[in-house]
Amino acid sequence: MQCSKCRREAVIFQRYSGLHLCERHFLASVEARTKRTIRTHGWMKPADTIGIALSGGKDSAALLHFLSTNFSKRRDLDFLAITIDEGIGGYRDVSQAEELARRYDVPWTTASFAGEYATTIDDIVLRKGDRRSCSWCGVLRRRLLNRVAREAGCTKVAFGFTLDDEAQSVMMNVLRGDTERLTMAPKPAEGMVPRIRPFEAVPEREVALYSHITVGLLPDRGCPYAHNALRGDVRRLLDDYSWLHPSTKYALLGLRDDLAGCGEGSAMTTVICSECGEPTFGPCRSCAVLKEVNK
Ligand SMILES: [Zn+2]
Ligand SMILES: [Zn+2]
Repeated sequence: MQCSKCRREAVIFQRYSGLHLCERHFLASVEARTKRTIRTHGWMKPADTIGIALSGGKDSAALLHFLSTNFSKRRDLDFLAITIDEGIGGYRDVSQAEELARRYDVPWTTASFAGEYATTIDDIVLRKGDRRSCSWCGVLRRRLLNRVAREAGCTKVAFGFTLDDEAQSVMMNVLRGDTERLTMAPKPAEGMVPRIRPFEAVPEREVALYSHITVGLLPDRGCPYAHNALRGDVRRLLDDYSWLHPSTKYALLGLRDDLAGCGEGSAMTTVICSECGEPTFGPCRSCAVLKEVNK
């Protein structure tokens, strides 16, 4: 099949645009969309230091490639790749992330659950099972990443989340009837480094292809403890539905943006947790998780 824009061979067919694209036009399409997303949200301002949440997997590697190659001439921007080591043997390997950061000449730092919480996910699963380990891991990872980014002077933290991740999250909130989350506006809060998602308008399979072409093939093992029944169901539901209605995931992203800020506006101000000293909205979830897992 030929590229719809030139005569080269196409590497992908975008169902939602109806275009066949060659490698060159595909890369240009991903980068133009990502830059538009950043511009629309005002996500990168002069003097920003952008933390890059770098797991070392394909999505975060693609993000590292995109940011470091497209903004290398911007002397007013700094980047710092941050890798969190949750302590999951055979899965999390921080040296893969470190090597990527070195390859792109981006400063890199790492922090571990072992160092911060004196425990690891392997240890928690061993003692408590893996039924709730995913949500505990998420809470503890977010707190540690936020602290590392804040203390390093980051003004934003960028995540490799794709259109599929975002559309699934919106759909999960709809299915749970979670009006509060659907209508919440992201507001700056003391001590919380704002999170940005440059690839939110790029489908997962395109981020994967972008990563494969630019970074190369990476070992991308799944987490051995990953259980999220609802997300798995919603992923299948959306993938099936999008086959017939290719713009559905974009529609959900638009729904999210239209609803943001429509709610009562729960007071989004942080308080400092008296136990861990970190900012939190209401009762500190990470301290609650640590109590639960150490019981
Ligand atoms: Zn082309
Ligand atoms: Zn706390």
